[in-house]
Parts: sequence; C-alpha cells; structure tokens
Amino acid sequence: MGWLTQLVEERGAEALDLHAQTINPQFVRLLRTIGFDRRWARAEGAYLWDSDGNRYLDVLGGFGMFNVGRNNPRVREALIEALELDRPGSVQLGVDSLPALLAEELLRLAPARVERVLFTSSGAESVEAAIKLGRAATGRPRVLSLEHGFHGLTLGALSATSASEFTSRFGPLLPGFEKVPWDDLSALEDKLRAEDVALFIVEPVQGKGVKIPAPGYLEGVQQLCRRYGTLFCVDEVQTGFGRTGRMFAFEHWGLEPDLVTVAKSLSGGYVPVGALLMSREVYDGVFDSLPNAVSHGSTFAPNDLAMVAGLASLRELREQGLVERSARLGELLLERTRGFADRFEVVRDVRGLGLMWAIEFQEPPGGSRTWKLLERIQPGLFSQLVVVPLFRDHRILSQVAGHGLNVLKAIPPLVVTEEDLDWFVSALEETVAGAEKMPRALVRFALQAARAGRPQRRRLARA
Ligand code: PMP
Repeated sequence: MGWLTQLVEERGAEALDLHAQTINPQFVRLLRTIGFDRRWARAEGAYLWDSDGNRYLDVLGGFGMFNVGRNNPRVREALIEALELDRPGSVQLGVDSLPALLAEELLRLAPARVERVLFTSSGAESVEAAIKLGRAATGRPRVLSLEHGFHGLTLGALSATSASEFTSRFGPLLPGFEKVPWDDLSALEDKLRAEDVALFIVEPVQGKGVKIPAPGYLEGVQQLCRRYGTLFCVDEVQTGFGRTGRMFAFEHWGLEPDLVTVAKSLSGGYVPVGALLMSREVYDGVFDSLPNAVSHGSTFAPNDLAMVAGLASLRELREQGLVERSARLGELLLERTRGFADRFEVVRDVRGLGLMWAIEFQEPPGGSRTWKLLERIQPGLFSQLVVVPLFRDHRILSQVAGHGLNVLKAIPPLVVTEEDLDWFVSALEETVAGAEKMPRALVRFALQAARAGRPQRRRLARA
C-alpha cells in the first residue's frame, strides 16, 4: 500500500474536524447545520458514496466541472500516460506541442473570428484576461456586464459580478465597471453610445437563477457591440462543453463573440485549466511587439497535465456523444418536470437548456404566512426546504442557484442516465409536495439553520 492510500485510510475520518481546524471552520459549521456533513468515500460518473456505502446522485456536479463524469477512466488513463512520458513541459522560454494542440482543438470548436488562445488555470482568471486584454486592445476603460451576472471572485472578475453578498465588503472594486439590466437592449445601447466601453461580458445562460435570455436579446447585444466598437465577450465557464446541449451555449443563437472565456469542465474534473479564446484583432492589439510577447500569462497555465486533461475531456465529449446526450436528457428532464408549475402552487417556473435546469418557487397565490416568515428571516429560504430533504431523504446533492433566490438548480455530469433522472424527478416531486405544506418541523429546522447562519462578525480592529 502506498503512503497516500495509507494516509487517506488512517486520517480520512478526520476530514470535517481537520478542515474546521485548518481551513474554514464556518464552512464546516454550515455543512453541519444543514446536515450536509457526510464523510465522502468515493465518486464515479454522476455518483458519490459516503463512508456508510450509501450512493448519492450528484446534480451539483462540482459547480459544473464534471461534465465528463467524476473520475472518468479515459481522462485518468491519459493523465497517467502523460506522467509516464517525462514530458518537457513548462520550459517557459520555449514551447511544447500540447498547448498548441489543445488550442487547435478549441479553435476548431469556436466561431471563425476567434483565432487565438490564452491558457489560464480558472474561470476567474479567464475573465481577468478578457478584461485586461479587452481594455488594452480597444484602448477603452469601461466594462459592462449584466445585473445578476456571475464571473468569478478575483477583484477584476468580481467587479463584473453583481451579487452584493460577494462584493459588498471587498471594495473599492475596479473603476469603470457598470451593470445593465437583463434583456434590455436600449439600456445597453445608452451605455455603449459614448464609444468608451472596451467589452460587454455576458453569460449566455445566467448561472445565478438559470436565466435564459429572451429570443433576439443576445443577437441584439452582438449587433450593438459591433456598432459601437465594443468587444462582445461570452462567458462560457459554466455553459461550455456541452452543458446546454451544444458544445458552447452561444451556438444556440449563432453568435460570433470576439472573446470567449472557458474553464470548469475542460479540466475533466481533474486538473484546473481555463482559457480565453480571442479574435485576431484582440491578440494583435495586445501582443503587438517583441517586448509585448509576454504581456499576459501565468506560470502554471499551460502545464502538461492541464493540457492533457483538456485534450482528453474534449475527446471524451466527442467520443461518448455527451453534447447530444445533454440535449436529449435535458429535453426529457424538462418534459417530465414542466408540469410541476401547474401541479404545485409553490412552483412558479421550471426551465432549462440541455442539462442546465432549474425550478423556481413562489409564495402560493393565496398567500402564506409561513412563506412570508421564511422570506423575512432569509430571502430564498423556502428553496432550502427542498434542497435539504432531497439530500437527507433521497440522497440527491443539489444547490440553490444563488443567494436570496428561491431557485433550485441541477447541473449534473452529462453522463447521467434516464434512470438517474427518474430518481431525481420522483424525489423532487415527493419533496416539493412535502415542502409545499410547509410542515412545522421542516420550517423550524429552516429557521434554526438560518439563525445559526447569521454573521458573528468580528472586524479586525484598525491599527
Ligand atoms: N464565470 C462563470 C459564468 C462561472 O459560473 C464561474 C464559476 N461559477 C466563474 C466565471 C468563475 O470560475 P472559477 O470558479 O473557476 O474561478
């Protein structure tokens, strides 16, 4: 037995306590409060097993990084092969074939105007690159994004993100950033008219709330961006690599963005990797001389294992037909759940594109004092009345789609089966029916959890 196997066997049981001691005690408190404090033992495809041998269906999908399934054997084999090759990667003052081969594959999938790739190690870094390169290429300072958009938590990406729960204590954010309302082309045009906006960044389907744009909106955005010389940046970090039933979500609307950010599932779930795909104009506007040949980059970004994970993931998506599978199973899931909006008073809407699916809850039309109480204590609390029992009683790991929203979201690995969807749909049906009655025990639990979650903030004293 190797030392690693031994270490995990000997100390695996300490995971929660050790995490609380060394990493993030508040997070462990949160997990314990909502009853998500499992000891995880194993994972495969769309499943997780706890230390008691119970199998869970993972529709949270590592926030969208497991499109090819957890511990995908073919991606793993490629990584092992790469390790055994003693490759000469990361020479830094030199190049290797793997980054260029992955770039070639990515460009083959992208619209014709996108001709260059810059590798990164995360979604936020891809967004940072889009902001920096977009500003330099256009010589313009401003950056627009959508209300309720999410683009990452580093300072630049955070400046384009509009969730106050992530931004409020971390200011001042970068200057020149503004948000525009969803689906509103004239509000966007008003901001673009001054011709000082470098780029407009948009998620084709918003991760927060799983919002799908109105027909014509994104096409209109592209037209306006072209008219006013603003770069059109589509953030495919979550929607990319088959999630919405197309390789990239922008294909649904035939878009031709100047910039595309990717990450998450390019990793195969194994090695962090992201990229900014850009038009030749953007590249030429930044990397325009020998001294500027290294104007942006990052030490780890094009490392061997990341590149192999990317190549193997793209191959897996293609060979297993996962993009088509996402479209087909997504349609099936919608068909089987769309009726919930008529059957349950608390269901406002069920929507999805491929395997990016959500159910939104509302106060029952006749009014409900319990609903109002829950909302007063913590907006979006009702959705926890569904997420928690789904996990506890049905062994389905899901998530609420953003702070304060009554939206439950499913972004499972694209390898899920029809039987898995049956499991999800029947569990959801039972759970929503139970939550709709807002039983006292469940409401009391939710209120206690919300109160336990109130900040116990001790600000650092100013020196
Ligand atoms: N953009 C989008 C659309 C995302 O969904 C995310 C992550 N949820 C990010 C950017 C940031 O990616 P990362 O967590 O890898 O930094």
